[in-house]
Amino acid sequence: MNEIVRNTQGSVTQTSLDPQDWTEFRVLAHRMLDEAIDGIANVRSRPVWQPIPDGVRAAIKSDVPREASDLADVYREFAEHVAPYATGNVHPGFMGWVHGGGTAVGMLAEMLAAGLNANLGGRDHMPIEIERQIVDWMRRLFAFPQSASGIFVTGTSMANLMAVLVARTTALGTLARQYGIGNDGALLTAYTSRAAHGCVSRAMDISGLGSDALRKIGLDADHRIDVAALRAQIAADRKVGFKPFLVVASAGTVDIGAIDDLRAVAELCREQGIWFHVDGAFGALAILSPELAPLLGGIELADSIALDFHKWGQVPYDAGFLLVRDGERHRQAFAQPAAYLSREARGLAAGAVWPCDLGPDLSRGFRALKTWFTLKTFGTERLGAVIARSCALAKYLEARVLAEPRLELLAPVNLNIVCFRYRSNDAVNREIVADIQESGIAAPSGTTLDGTFAIRAAIVNHRTDETDIDALVAAVLEFGGRRSGGVIDVEAPPLVAQ
Ligand SMILES: *Cc1c(COP(=O)(O)O)cnc(C)c1O
Repeated sequence: MNEIVRNTQGSVTQTSLDPQDWTEFRVLAHRMLDEAIDGIANVRSRPVWQPIPDGVRAAIKSDVPREASDLADVYREFAEHVAPYATGNVHPGFMGWVHGGGTAVGMLAEMLAAGLNANLGGRDHMPIEIERQIVDWMRRLFAFPQSASGIFVTGTSMANLMAVLVARTTALGTLARQYGIGNDGALLTAYTSRAAHGCVSRAMDISGLGSDALRKIGLDADHRIDVAALRAQIAADRKVGFKPFLVVASAGTVDIGAIDDLRAVAELCREQGIWFHVDGAFGALAILSPELAPLLGGIELADSIALDFHKWGQVPYDAGFLLVRDGERHRQAFAQPAAYLSREARGLAAGAVWPCDLGPDLSRGFRALKTWFTLKTFGTERLGAVIARSCALAKYLEARVLAEPRLELLAPVNLNIVCFRYRSNDAVNREIVADIQESGIAAPSGTTLDGTFAIRAAIVNHRTDETDIDALVAAVLEFGGRRSGGVIDVEAPPLVAQ
């Protein structure tokens, strides 16, 4: 391998980057695949996450690699220095933030997609038909009309931003794309709840409307947007000349998994002529579970829905998605004529509308393939059952918390997220979270609810079962005992001054 020949001037004469020896390459490739499969199959034998040793962090720092290296050596570096120190979300003990677990099937599809190296910006090829098939499946699942459109993006942050842009162009007209948002744009106001994900505010900022133009409405007792307060704020804004144009409802808030009353918000938006967007990053896919789908009632009335296949859909990162009811409005927000992208009736340049007409990206990878493999291989019933089971596990964790006097539940358990604390102060609870992460036993994260720090467990991974929940509870009690003055084991992680 790597028999790159240099001529007398020292320049490289072998131009193709293909392996010199395909047989040797194949052997190594099979080993890589075997080890990647082992990594998933044996995930329980490893810590969920481990801190990166200084030596490992330093080991990969180097000058620009001008000279060639053996593929086997590069792979060894990956196996030693990268793979063991990944996020940990493949592991069933990972319960931090909202991270999907991925599947071995998704991994294979990602490899196949890389082999095709397809560019899904446009043109006429089957990979785009696969993406369109998924758009059609989503359209059916959410009971959107035939005229709906959809597109894969990196994640819900991007999908929410694009929804803001479609709503903005709808409110101001397409000329705003040429002239800018102008005086009318300065009057646009958007609405979401205080529990909405931070990317909604960022979308307002990035789109030029400004994060101050996003009104954060208070919550009702169930942590859902207070619809009466929303109505009152819209009226108050109209009265002083603002132009309410968008409401972003949450289907699964990131802190506790609350689902806004989508039907009530939809009715209000319809009555007020306001774009109704749903941030369904993880929660929207609960539509796959017959038990949970009723919680999403009203989502079928949305003007647009953002969701992530890489969370509850278990598709490997990244696989975000935007679905828009009115495909023409979607196109009008992004399509741009360009001579070098001219569309033809036949040949490779046929097949408009192209995905590049539906978002800011021109070149795009084949995210649809891993999603297609995942949806087809497991079927939506089984994926829905996985989603329902993570909610059942959250209920199990809730019951364990309620039964344990040293623990306190801090929020209602709506879906798959449990927020609780060891009965001690915030500082102790913060240490408990870090202790558990560093122990490799589990990986919860933290959040703050009404000013109180909470240990937060979001059950998303399809591999998680009761034993993982039990291990989390045991670890919280163990580290909580140590941190609040109990016996300190010699093998405890180093104590931080409190
Ligand atoms: C995860 C999440 C987001 C952001 O999605 P990304 O895919 O990380 O960009 C937005 N909203 C909610 C409710 C989320 O859970």
